[in-house]
Amino acid sequence: MLKKQVDVIVIGAGAAGLFCAAEAGKRGRSVMVLDHAKRIGGKILMSGGGRCNFTNMYASHENFLSDNKHFCKSALSRYTQWDFIGLVAQYGIAYHEKTLGQLFCDDSAKDILNMLLAECQKAGASVTSQCDILSIEKHDNGFVLETNQGQYQCESLVIATGGLSIPKLGASPFGYKVAEQFGLKVLPTRAGLVPFTLHEQDKNVLAELSGISLDARASCNDTSFNESILFTHRGLSGPAVLQISSFWQPGEAVEFDLFPHGDLHTELQKTLQQQPDILLSTALAAHYAKRYVQAVLPYLGLDNKPLKQYQGKQLQQVADAFHQWQLKPNGTEGYRTAEVTLGGVDTDELSSKTMMAKNVGGLYFIGEVMDVTGWLGGFNFQWAWSSGWVAGQVV
Ligand SMILES: Cc1cc2nc3c(=O)[nH]c(=O)nc-3n(C[C@H](O)[C@H](O)[C@H](O)COP(=O)(O)OP(=O)(O)OC[C@H]3O[C@@H](n4cnc5c(N)ncnc54)[C@H](O)[C@@H]3O)c2cc1C
Repeated sequence: MLKKQVDVIVIGAGAAGLFCAAEAGKRGRSVMVLDHAKRIGGKILMSGGGRCNFTNMYASHENFLSDNKHFCKSALSRYTQWDFIGLVAQYGIAYHEKTLGQLFCDDSAKDILNMLLAECQKAGASVTSQCDILSIEKHDNGFVLETNQGQYQCESLVIATGGLSIPKLGASPFGYKVAEQFGLKVLPTRAGLVPFTLHEQDKNVLAELSGISLDARASCNDTSFNESILFTHRGLSGPAVLQISSFWQPGEAVEFDLFPHGDLHTELQKTLQQQPDILLSTALAAHYAKRYVQAVLPYLGLDNKPLKQYQGKQLQQVADAFHQWQLKPNGTEGYRTAEVTLGGVDTDELSSKTMMAKNVGGLYFIGEVMDVTGWLGGFNFQWAWSSGWVAGQVV
C-alpha cells in the first residue's frame, strides 16, 4: 500500500480545509487534503441557493454563538471579510450585496469553489477525494493515518470536517471523534439555522398559508431578528426563523411581532375613524395577504366584526395578538436541512491564535467542527476563511 509523508494533512476539503491548505502551501509546506466524499465542495456549491453568500460586510464577533464569545475575535480580526473580498476581486468574480451586508456571487457558487481549488493548485496542495480515514495515531514527530488509499504521515494534522448538517453532502461526526480520541472536550451539538416544525393544532391551520411570507421580528432568549418569515407545508421557515432557531431550546416559545415596522393599533384606529363599518379582516387586508388574514383571525381567537363594534380595549387586544404572537414550535427539521451545527469541539481546548489543541502539539481544528457558529448571512463562511487562514500560517 502507498506510504506518503507530507508536512501537513488537512482532513475535509470544505471551505475551511481548502483555504487552510492553500495558505500552508504558500509557505512552502507540502500539503495534502483528504476527503471521504466523491464530490469536493458540495456544501459550497449548494450554499446561498447556489450563489454562495461567501461573507458579510459587517461581520464581527457579535455575529457568532459560542460558549466563549471572545474566542473568535482574534482570527476574525487577523483575516477579515475585506481580505476575502479582496481575494474574490483578484479572481474577477462578480458579486453583489443582497441585503444586510450579505455578499453573493452574481453567477454561481462554483466561482468560489474554483477559486479555492485554484489557490490550492497554485500553492502545490493536493486534494484527494473518496479517501476514508480508518485510524489516526500520534507519534513523536507527527501523525500516522491509515486510509483506504494507503498510509499517510504528517507533522501537522488539521481537522476541517465540519458539522453534522446535511449528511447527504458528506457531513459526519468524524471531527468530534478525533477530538475525543485525543482527550478534547466536545460540547453537545444541535441543529442551527433550521426551520421549525409545528404541533398538530398549529400545523393544521398554518400549513394552509404555505408560500406566504411576512416581515416579522422573531424573539427568543433576549435575542431578536427583524427579517421575513415563511409559512411552509412542513412548518415555519424564512430568514427570521432560521436566525432565531439557533437561539431556541426545545419547549420554549418564540414571540413573533407580525407588524414590526409600526403600531397596528394606531393603524386600526385610523381606519376606524375613516371607515367605521368595514370588517376587521378588510382593514387588516391593507397590510397582509387576504388568505393570511382569513386563516389567522380564527387561529388567533379573534372575531371578524365591523371595526365600530370593537369596544374599549378590544382593538388594542387585536393589535397585541399580531404584535405578540407566541408560538411553541414542536421541534426543528434537524440536521437534514439545517445550515449549521451548534456546539462542537470546545474552544477552551484550542488556541485562538492558531487553532491548535492546547494539549496536543500539531493537531488543529478549523471551521464549523468547533463550537463557533455564525448567524445566517455569510458569517459561517467567514469563520471558515478566518480560522483556516490563521491555522494556515503556522501548520
Ligand atoms: C444548504 C446550506 C447552505 C449554506 N449556505 C451558506 C451561505 O450561503 N453562507 C454561509 O456563510 N454559510 C452557509 N452555510 C454554512 C456553511 O456551508 C458551513 O458553515 C461551512 O461550509 C463550514 O465549512 P467547513 O469547512 O468547516 O465544513 P464543510 O464545508 O462542511 O466541509 C467539511 C468537509 O469534510 C468532509 N468530511 C466530513 N467527514 C469526513 C470524514 N469522516 N472523512 C473525510 N472527510 C470528511 C466533508 O465531505 C466536507 O467536504 C450553508 C450550509 C448549508 C448546509
